[in-house]
Amino acid sequence: MGVAIRADLAAVPDYNIPGTAPDAIVLNSNEGPLPPPPAVIEAITRAAVEGHRYPQWFSDTLVGRLADDLAVPEEGIAVGCGSVSLCRDLIQAFCGPGDEVLCAWRSFDAYPVFARVAGLRARTVPLDAGHRHDLDAMLAAVTRDTRVVFVCNPNNPTGTAVRGRALGDFLDRLPDRVLVVLDEAYREFVDDPDVPDGIALARHRPNVAVLRTFSKAYGLAGVRIGYCVAAPAVVSAVHKVAVPFAVSRLAQAAALAALDRPEEVRSRSAAIVRERQRLQSLLTRDGHSVTPSQANFVWLPLGEEAGDFADFCARRGVLVRAFPGDGVRVTVGLPEENDAFLSAAARYRGRRSSATLVDRLR
Ligand SMILES: *Cc1c(COP(=O)(O)O)cnc(C)c1O
Repeated sequence: MGVAIRADLAAVPDYNIPGTAPDAIVLNSNEGPLPPPPAVIEAITRAAVEGHRYPQWFSDTLVGRLADDLAVPEEGIAVGCGSVSLCRDLIQAFCGPGDEVLCAWRSFDAYPVFARVAGLRARTVPLDAGHRHDLDAMLAAVTRDTRVVFVCNPNNPTGTAVRGRALGDFLDRLPDRVLVVLDEAYREFVDDPDVPDGIALARHRPNVAVLRTFSKAYGLAGVRIGYCVAAPAVVSAVHKVAVPFAVSRLAQAAALAALDRPEEVRSRSAAIVRERQRLQSLLTRDGHSVTPSQANFVWLPLGEEAGDFADFCARRGVLVRAFPGDGVRVTVGLPEENDAFLSAAARYRGRRSSATLVDRLR
């Protein structure tokens, strides 16, 4: 008899590691297309000098800085090694045996996986016909056992955002005992003024936690750092379950240096938003259906064609992310990378329409 691995882990999918290939154009992981600014790299190098010392227990320097920038109390911020680790910490801190986690589907794949790893049920509610969160249906799906609800805004992988008063109304109608996690990993790419700011919504709601990250707009995905803004009681619960010293000195130094250059982040994000608009309009012109996106990626709801389309792009050196049966997510890259993708996508459409024509002529 071998070592006894938890039987329920068999139901947890192996992580689908995004493909990579030498010289490929990588548009499958929603990373920033540029390396960190030189000043951030220098800050990481300087922090390495004290690499023999443990980092601060709770990344206090960064917490102080974020508290000032966001006008929230220091006790209301927890830093984690990427906001994905905070998703897991929040589930760990709020759920026990028999409890449920609720999220939309499709949304970020980590939510149901983390729930299952914690031995919990994950209840999912389908997105609406416009690939948006169906907040009424989510509200109706809350049960006595629901402890944590994830709302990913903008949503990964569809790029859609909940707008106007819908989100605030949803929060007001939920029972107070349910923690709502507003995952705003893509907040910096939102250009629709009607998309509410999660931190403003969380300010007077003790059951709302907002997640932000340095991985996307700040271009620090490989450095691993993100944070949670919530009521002090939520933050202390996260601190209790977090892996000690998970946030390195190097990561904290990088985040602080990046926050010192808000102009750089703003201009990089604005360039991504411009390219997103260009991609959306050229794809639409070429006959693709594209979901309006507020993030650093676009979503093509290709359904059963998703895998074919991604394979077709990969053969042309462009890696995009297929979600079989649903669609394809394409990260917005540098203009020339996006051009390479557009040309593959246009050829795919051309090939498809001539195939249909041949079918019709037969
Ligand atoms: C990328 C992403 C995150 C954060 O990732 P980290 O690199 O762990 O900070 C969180 N949520 C969603 C929905 C994401 O797409």
